[in-house]
Amino acid sequence: MTNKKSQIPFPAGIQKVEVQWEIFLIPDRCKGCKLCVAFCPRDILEENLEVLNVKGYHPPRLKPGESTEHCAGCEFCQLICPEFAIFIQETKELTK
Ligand code: SF4
Ligand code: SF4
Repeated sequence: MTNKKSQIPFPAGIQKVEVQWEIFLIPDRCKGCKLCVAFCPRDILEENLEVLNVKGYHPPRLKPGESTEHCAGCEFCQLICPEFAIFIQETKELTK
């Protein structure tokens, strides 16, 4: 069965843009609430038990084996963090 959508040509001049996401953390702002961990729909964050910040809390990190390629860019972590400790930025690349 063929996917008819894939047979529709794009108009001339349209370029595909790959959007990727980078996740940034300011560890010493974190208060260890784990809201970002709980609300990430891709389940790519975890509490980093190997690190204590200046407040004595464990900040989040990417789960082992995860990468920012799996980040959906939903911004839930950024929106829900009460300390503005985690945020994301998009990077765009033009592809053919
Ligand atoms: S932007 Fe969304 S998918 Fe990416 S780390 Fe934050 S909550 Fe998870
Ligand atoms: S939501 Fe913010 S304060 Fe809470 S664990 Fe995540 S980074 Fe830390």
